[in-house]
Amino acid sequence: MIISQLLQSAVKANYRSESSQLDSELLLCHVLGVTRSFLKTWPDRPVNSAQLEQYEALVQRRVEGEPVAYLIGTQGFWSLDLTVSAATLIPRPETELLVEVALGLSVPEQASVLDLGTGTGAIALALATERSQWQICAVDVESDAVALAERNRQQHQLDNVTIFASNWFAAIPQQRFDIIVSNPPYIEASDPHLSQGDVRFEPASALVSGSDGLDDLRLLCAQSVAYLSDGGWLLVEHGFEQGAAVRELFVEAGFSLTETHRDLNGLERLTLGRYRVANA
Ligand code: GLN
Repeated sequence: MIISQLLQSAVKANYRSESSQLDSELLLCHVLGVTRSFLKTWPDRPVNSAQLEQYEALVQRRVEGEPVAYLIGTQGFWSLDLTVSAATLIPRPETELLVEVALGLSVPEQASVLDLGTGTGAIALALATERSQWQICAVDVESDAVALAERNRQQHQLDNVTIFASNWFAAIPQQRFDIIVSNPPYIEASDPHLSQGDVRFEPASALVSGSDGLDDLRLLCAQSVAYLSDGGWLLVEHGFEQGAAVRELFVEAGFSLTETHRDLNGLERLTLGRYRVANA
């Protein structure tokens, strides 16, 4: 078997995936330890039988729905290659919007930042690569996620991030941050999408948040104000139909300048607001 034949049959086997060509290439790159441009440059290269066997097993798991990121163990986010595991959500391209908006905020040069529910560490680490003077604290309730985020931090040698276990604010020492960010769980418990596609393989604790999907967002909005400096910002990702409800939560909690940004698909995906500490 040669590279081009192998890819062709994998694409065919995986015809249900919208990204079958890309999926097949990424899996083969993983098995061969090469880049995608190598596959294009050397389509006639033979593949040995051990590689063939490994590739076919991965393609089969992909056909059964397992996300490519879990099969190859990594996912690109922002400029970083992050190690992923079944302990956490796979970083999504939509979440890069949160990084972009956070980088544009007016904050002190040495801003202090808190990332709640960091998972792989994606948001915190992306911010850290762009702003070496920011002091970033990232927490997750799952100890496996904390270990994974710490591994990613070390891999990218980002010394301005501290990662530890906390159930939202529970273990965070009382202090005030200039920015709080979070991509919390926000899917409704009864959402039929939970039994379809990649999310079936991801931990429900990172996806589902009560009957209306807003349980964690409610908590974050209400509790953030005690941890924000005067003029500090809260930025949260949410479901595309939750914009109005989340803006209301921000207003109830006392935020001003509340606004929602749309993702690349034109869907409401991120809300932020600024907090003025009374009598500060
Ligand atoms: N955007 C993800 C999805 O719909 C959900 C992410 C989350 O709950 N934070 O698959």
